[in-house]
Amino acid sequence: MKAIRVREFGPPEVMRLEEVPTPVPGRGQLLVRIRAVGVNPVETYIRSGSYARSPALPYTPGHDAAGTVEAVGGEVRGFAPGDRVYTTGTLTGAYAEFALCEPNRVHPLPANASFPQGAALGVPYYTAWRALFQRARAVPGETVLIHGASGGVGIAGVQIARAAGLQVVGTAGSKEGLALVTREGAHHAIDHQDTGHLDKAVALTGGRGFDVILEMLSNVNLAKDLKALAMCGRVVVIGSRGTVEIDPRDTMSRDASILGMTLFNIPDADRVTVTAALAAGLENRSLRPVVSRELPLDSAPESHVTVMAPGAKGKIVLIP
Ligand code: NAP
Repeated sequence: MKAIRVREFGPPEVMRLEEVPTPVPGRGQLLVRIRAVGVNPVETYIRSGSYARSPALPYTPGHDAAGTVEAVGGEVRGFAPGDRVYTTGTLTGAYAEFALCEPNRVHPLPANASFPQGAALGVPYYTAWRALFQRARAVPGETVLIHGASGGVGIAGVQIARAAGLQVVGTAGSKEGLALVTREGAHHAIDHQDTGHLDKAVALTGGRGFDVILEMLSNVNLAKDLKALAMCGRVVVIGSRGTVEIDPRDTMSRDASILGMTLFNIPDADRVTVTAALAAGLENRSLRPVVSRELPLDSAPESHVTVMAPGAKGKIVLIP
């Protein structure tokens, strides 16, 4: 099979398409034929060698994919060859034509979701759902600011929060991104390039501030986010690309909380909860992953440049 291999950490060009043996599922494993692969920013950090968790070299990147079950190993129940599925992790890497997976990381993909949409589910939708409900404990009627709503996690957050009855304000940095955020369900969209955008956002809550903020770029925004929270507000640190100085008094005056998260820490029981919630959302069409670009698998280096560039409009997907 064809697979992207990384033999040394470094720039996007260290990802090369190679011919490698197609894996054979052992006991308790599934082989998935991959039709689409979701590209996430974390895969660029891992590839560059700058991430806290580095795989042993050489490796095949990627967690999120969608396709069909190709073969079922011994003692695996509930799957049959040909089943449409998406993954939330693989044993051998998702940037490939096939991937070995543990059954608890393989989930049914409803007929109304395409393979590229299925590849957009894993990291983005699980992160957004966990941030909103398992970390921030958001409830219907609360206000949420999704700071960076035009990207993979942000669009998921907008759709999930809107369907759950929250008042949603989303930010983007381009005209197309703002239109997308509104189209996907935000009550209001504002431009995070505008220096006064948080004041505008707070004005949209009648000056009360936000109950919840999902933050995609904490090193830029966290200090100001704290001033935009309502009493007992919670900000979930989802993304950060550097350090930031905050005034702790901004948390004291509001009884506010800063909640960090990384999806790698999600317990299995919580993942099962999210899987069920997403299945319902896909079924009733409140969740509709937005794919902005489909590229061939050998364009993995280009996909890593694009996913880090401004002007997000949804998910970048590789097609093996
Ligand atoms: P993405 O698809 O590349 O989207 C990035 C988002 O950040 C876009 O909406 C972008 O908006 C926005 N952004 C750019 N400048 C911003 C600013 N000044 N203020 C607020 N937002 C800004 O990435 P993603 O998959 O959604 O992930 C978002 C971040 O969360 C990444 O840093 C990623 O590594 C991290 N993440 C963390 C976890 C976790 O477990 N903690 C899980 C998934 C992702 P424009 O392009 O419109 O400017």
